[in-house]
Amino acid sequence: MFDVVISGAGPSGSHCAKILVEAGYKVALIEKNTKWRKPCGGAVHSGVVNLYPQLKNLNSQKVIGVVMHSADYHKLEFKGSSDEYSIIVDRLELDNIMKDAALDAGAELFDKNIAYDFIMKNQKKIGIKTKSPTGIKEFHGKIMIAADGMSSKLAVKSGIRTKWTNNELAIGKCTIMEGNHNLDLESVHVFFKPFQGYGWIFPLNDKRFNIGTFTFGRDNLNNNIHKIYQNFIDNPNVEKLINSNNKIIWSSSYPFPAEGVLEKCLYTDNLMLIGDAGGFVSPISGEGIQTAVTSGKIAAETAIKALQNEDYSKTSLKNYRTNKEIKNIIRNFKQKFSMINFLYENKGNNLNKMFKLSKVDSEFRDQVVNMFAFGDMPSKDFITKVHLS
Ligand SMILES: Cc1cc2nc3c(=O)[nH]c(=O)nc-3n(C[C@H](O)[C@H](O)[C@H](O)COP(=O)(O)OP(=O)(O)OC[C@H]3O[C@@H](n4cnc5c(N)ncnc54)[C@H](O)[C@@H]3O)c2cc1C
Repeated sequence: MFDVVISGAGPSGSHCAKILVEAGYKVALIEKNTKWRKPCGGAVHSGVVNLYPQLKNLNSQKVIGVVMHSADYHKLEFKGSSDEYSIIVDRLELDNIMKDAALDAGAELFDKNIAYDFIMKNQKKIGIKTKSPTGIKEFHGKIMIAADGMSSKLAVKSGIRTKWTNNELAIGKCTIMEGNHNLDLESVHVFFKPFQGYGWIFPLNDKRFNIGTFTFGRDNLNNNIHKIYQNFIDNPNVEKLINSNNKIIWSSSYPFPAEGVLEKCLYTDNLMLIGDAGGFVSPISGEGIQTAVTSGKIAAETAIKALQNEDYSKTSLKNYRTNKEIKNIIRNFKQKFSMINFLYENKGNNLNKMFKLSKVDSEFRDQVVNMFAFGDMPSKDFITKVHLS
C-alpha cells in the first residue's frame, strides 16, 4: 500500500515523486523502461537546472541566444542575459538524474512495468495495474498520478479525456549527430516552415548537436515527418551550419500534445494528470520539460494537502487546477495557441514579413523578440503593420 502511485518516471513523474517522499510519504514510481531515451531536442530551461544542480555536472553548453529563420530564410538573431538560459542535454541523462534524485529521496521504482488500468473498488480508483515481465502486478494507493506522457493509457481509462486525435498532436523527429559543425555554442537555430512546425539545431558541444523537425495540427496530415526531416537536413542553409559528413549517434520520432493544457481534464477522484499526459507542452515551440516539472510540483503539493486531510475526492484535488502557477501556464498556452493562425497564415508569409521588417525597424524588431523570448502578445498595430507590409 502506497500513499501515491505514479505512472511514468519522466521529468513530471520523478519531480512529483521527489517532493512527495521528501514530505514523508510512501511513493511507488512505475516506469515502462528506464533505458528509453525519449525523443527530444533536450533544451532545458535554467529553472530546471536550479532545481537539479546535478545537471551542471554534465558540463552542458549554456545557450543564451536564438537565431530564427523564416520560411524564406530571413534571419533574426538575439541573445539574452546569462542569468536566464537553457542547457542542451542528452534526454536519457536528464531523465536518469531526475529519477535518481527521486529514488535517493526514498521513492520506490518499479521498472519494466506498463501501467494499463486502474484497480477499482466500489467504483473508486484504489490502485494501478501493470504488465511486467513476471505477469500482472497491482499497486494500491490513495492517490494515483498519470505522468506517463502523451500515450497515457490511464488518462484514457479514467474517462476524463479521450485519446488525442492526429490533429491535436505534433509529431517530431530528432537525431543526435557528431562531426565538425559550424555552430555558435551559445545559440540555437530555429527554422520556421511554410507549414505548421519548425526545424531546430541545438548544439550539445563542439562535436555534437541535436537536430530535428516537427509538424503539428492540420499540417500533420499533409506532411510525412521522415520526408520533411530529410528535406531539412539536406537544405543548403542547414548544411552550411552542420556540414554533410556527420555520424548519426541516435535518431527517433515521437508525438507530443500540441494544443496546450486540457484544463477540464486534469483531475478526478483519486487521480491527477501531469506533464504531457495533461497537455503541459507549449503550443508552437513544443517546450514541455519545465512545465512538466511545474505540474509535477503542484500535483505533489495538492496530494500532500489531500493526504493530510484524508480527502482524495475531486473536490479536494481541484486545488491542482486552480493553483496560480497552473492557471498562468494555461493562460500563456492559450495565448500562444491563438497566435498559430496568424504566424502560419499563407504558408508562413506573416513570419517572413515579420523577420524582413525587423531588419529595418528596430522598434518592431524588439516586439518580435519579446514575442518569442517572453511570450508577449503582439499589439493590433503590430498585426496591421505585418498585414500592410
Ligand atoms: C521530438 C520532441 C522534441 C522535444 N524537444 C523538447 C525540448 O527541446 N525542450 C523541452 O522543454 N521539451 C521538448 N519536448 C517536450 C518534452 O519532451 C515533454 O514535454 C516532456 O518530456 C514531458 O515530460 P513528462 O514527464 O510529462 O513525459 P515523458 O517525458 O514523456 O515521460 C513519460 C514517462 O512515462 C513512461 N511511460 C509511458 N507509458 C507508460 C506506461 N503505460 N506505464 C509506465 N510508464 C510509462 C515513459 O517511458 C516515460 O519515461 C519535445 C518533445 C518531442 C516529442
